[in-house]
Amino acid sequence: MSQEKMRQHPRSQRPINLLPTTVKQEDRSHTRDVASLQTTRSPSSLSRRLGSSLLLFCLLCSFLLLLPSNFGRSSSSSHHLDPLGGPLRSLLVRLLPSISAEERKEEDVNLSRAKRILSKHPLIDGHVDVPVYSRYVYKNRVEDIPFDLPPTQNGTFPMPGQVDIPRLRLGRSGGYFWSAYVACPTKEEVGENFENASKTQAIQETMEQFDVIKQFVDKYPKEFEFTSTAKSARKAFSKGKMISFIGLEGGHSLGNSLHTLRAFASLYKKEGEIVGPMRYLTLTHTCHNVWADSSSEQPPRWNGVSPFGVRLIHELNRLGIVPDLSHTSDSTTSQAIRISKGPVMLSHSSARNLTGDSVVRNVPDSILHQLKTSWIQQGKDNIVMINVLPDFLGGARDLETIVNHVEHISSIVGRDHVGLGTDFDGMLESPIDFQDVTRYPHLVARLLARGWSEKEVIDFSGRNVLRVLESAERLAVQLEREGERPDNSRFEDFFPS
Ligand SMILES: [Zn+2]
Repeated sequence: MSQEKMRQHPRSQRPINLLPTTVKQEDRSHTRDVASLQTTRSPSSLSRRLGSSLLLFCLLCSFLLLLPSNFGRSSSSSHHLDPLGGPLRSLLVRLLPSISAEERKEEDVNLSRAKRILSKHPLIDGHVDVPVYSRYVYKNRVEDIPFDLPPTQNGTFPMPGQVDIPRLRLGRSGGYFWSAYVACPTKEEVGENFENASKTQAIQETMEQFDVIKQFVDKYPKEFEFTSTAKSARKAFSKGKMISFIGLEGGHSLGNSLHTLRAFASLYKKEGEIVGPMRYLTLTHTCHNVWADSSSEQPPRWNGVSPFGVRLIHELNRLGIVPDLSHTSDSTTSQAIRISKGPVMLSHSSARNLTGDSVVRNVPDSILHQLKTSWIQQGKDNIVMINVLPDFLGGARDLETIVNHVEHISSIVGRDHVGLGTDFDGMLESPIDFQDVTRYPHLVARLLARGWSEKEVIDFSGRNVLRVLESAERLAVQLEREGERPDNSRFEDFFPS
C-alpha cells in the first residue's frame, strides 16, 4: 500500500498500531478455559450494579427517616437517635452485600444463557473489516496474517485489531459479512460528473478484496463457509462453520457500470443458487458517486439518488442483493427506501438521536419511522445493524451505551428489525468493555438483563438479518418469473457527451 493510499484511507488518520493486541487479564484465562468466560464482568456493569445498590441504599434511608423517632435505637444508645443504629444497621449491612451477590449471580446466569443461545443460534455481524486490515496492514499477503494463532503466553493475540479465529470462537461468533472495501477515489480522479470513475483503481482493488476474502475462507475450511442464501447460512452454522457473506462497501467500486455489479454478484456463486455470497451493496462510502449522495460530503450532488442510481437499485432487487444505506445521506436513504421494491438494510449505523445531529453517519429517527412505515404499509422488510465504533456512539466506549443504541433504534423499528454490525477491524480504538469479537455474548447478556426475551435476542443476533436476506431472495425469484432481464443501460445514457 502506498503512503498516498494510506492517507486516503479514512480509517488511517493515525498510524495503525502493529503491535499485538494486549488482552485483559480476565481474557487470558479464557484461552485456557473457555468456561471461565462466564464469570467475567465489565467495568460498566460493575458501576451499574453499584448504582442500583446505591439507589436501594437511598430508598432505605428515605424509609428510615419516616420511621418513629424511637425506632431503631439500640438499648445501649437511647440518648441519641441513630437512624441506622442497632438491628436496622445490621439488617442493612447484611442486606447490601446479599443484593450485590444476587445481582452478580443474575449477571452470570444471563451470560451463561447468552452463550447457550449463541451456541444454537447464529450471531451474524453485519460488518467486519478483516479484509481492510489485510490490505492496509499486511498488503494482502494472507500467508503472513496470524489469523488463526492462539494468544501468546503473555496473553496477547498475535493478530492486531479486533478479529481473529480464536477470538471469534471465544465470542461464539456465528459468522459475518466480510466487508469488501477500498478507499474512495479523489474528486480530481473521478471528474466533475464521475466520468472517469471507471478509470480509477477502485475496481481492481475491489476485485483484490474479493480474492482476499476467498483466500481466507479457503485457507480455513473448518472455520468458514461461503454462504449465499439464508438457507445455506443456516446449514453452514449447523455444521459448526462460520457463515460468510460479502458486503461490498461503496458504489464507487463499480466504476459506473451495472455490468461490473453483475460480475461481482456472480463471484463464488454455486450452481443452481439464485445469489452468491455478495448480499449487500452500500450505495456510497464517504464520497458521492454516480449513483447517490454520501452523508460525508457537502454539498449534495444529486439531492439523493441519481437517475442512474434508480436503475442500480432495481438491478440490486433483481439480483437479490440488499441495498445498504449506511454511509448514505438522509435524502439518499429516504429515497432508496421508497425506490427499492424489497428490503433495505443499514449494515453498520447507530442512533443519531443519542449522539446529536453532528454525527450524520448515524440514522435519524425520521428514517427509522420511515422504515417502520414502509414495513407496515408495504411489507418491505428491513434491518438496522448497530455500529459500535466509539465515534458513532458519541465518543462513549462502554457496553451500556451500545445497548442504549440498540434499544433506541428498536423502540422505533421494533426488536425484529435490529441487529449488530460492529465495524470491528475498521476502528483503531474499540469500546473498553466490548473490545473485540470475544464480547458478543456480553452484549446478548445485557439485552437479556434488560428484559429481552430469548426469542428477541435470537432475532437480534441473526434471525432478523437472515429473514431480510430471504425476503430479497424471494423478490429476485419473483422478478425473474416476471421476465426481468439484466439492465444494460450505461453511464453514457445518462450523460450523453
Ligand atoms: Zn463503513
